[in-house]
Amino acid sequence: MILRQALARRKSPAFARNLTISKSPISWQQDERPQQTIASAVERSGVGLHSGVSATVRLIPARAGEGRYFVKAGDEVKIPASIDHVEESVLCTTLRRGSAKVSTVEHLMSALEGSGIDNVPILDGSSREWVEAIEEAGICSAKDDSGDEISRFSAVVHEPLYVWKNDSFVAAFPHPKTRVTCGIDFSQVSAIGCQWFSCFPTIQHTYSQEIAPSRTFCIFEEVDGLRNAGLIQGGSVDNAIVCSISSGWINPPLRFPDEPCRHKILDLVGDLSLLAENGNQGLPVAHLVAYKAGHALHARFASMLRDIMVKLKGEV
Ligand SMILES: [Zn+2]
Repeated sequence: MILRQALARRKSPAFARNLTISKSPISWQQDERPQQTIASAVERSGVGLHSGVSATVRLIPARAGEGRYFVKAGDEVKIPASIDHVEESVLCTTLRRGSAKVSTVEHLMSALEGSGIDNVPILDGSSREWVEAIEEAGICSAKDDSGDEISRFSAVVHEPLYVWKNDSFVAAFPHPKTRVTCGIDFSQVSAIGCQWFSCFPTIQHTYSQEIAPSRTFCIFEEVDGLRNAGLIQGGSVDNAIVCSISSGWINPPLRFPDEPCRHKILDLVGDLSLLAENGNQGLPVAHLVAYKAGHALHARFASMLRDIMVKLKGEV
């Protein structure tokens, strides 16, 4: 009863006030909590994984309904953290608006989605550390211009939806809670092999304990090729786990025996967070299952969901 009263007191975002529920594969559902933001600004510096250039990123509180977006230093252009602004890129997720571009956003976006930060501008933009930064800043409900809280909505999947390429796929099945299951198969690298992991990443504690600490990984024998292609210029044994085909892990210990597979969930959460708009949840309410998928397939899946969601809004 208390929950229902709290929900009734809260404002609905503009799109939801006119919403008619149709027989679509996706519909909207009001969440138990309002939209959130961070309670104070927080800043972190580091080296870009692919660019190798040092960067400072500052997160600041935002009003309800603003959603997440990047603003580069000395630039007025806002780049929304949206699937509509994803540019095709190798081994990472890049957002572009006109000439403004920000690369390798997936780990930060994953931390924001997993920590429940719905509204936040990200300044000077170039995941355990991001989660720690968010915890340091604090989390609070976001208010609109009138000082009111705004309801957060999630997209609910009602029938199986999927994309695939060869034997890789990303799929969503109807499920009452947001659950993610990822599988990888590196049978040529015996120390990694075939791994599966499943969790509920929108539960903040689950995300911060089971997913956020998992680091990006690469195959030692592929490092030279990637470096020569201009990638992983900032990669090192300090920020990635490296596995050799012949001799196993080069820089143990792992944080989890299935750390590579958990990192795939971290990436998927980050890439699907780009479905978020106006402070609503990015991850749909569904059982999301991905096997041998990467950023490009994640983006194709997110685009497909976005197309259905846009149609849903068009039926208002
Ligand atoms: Zn990653």
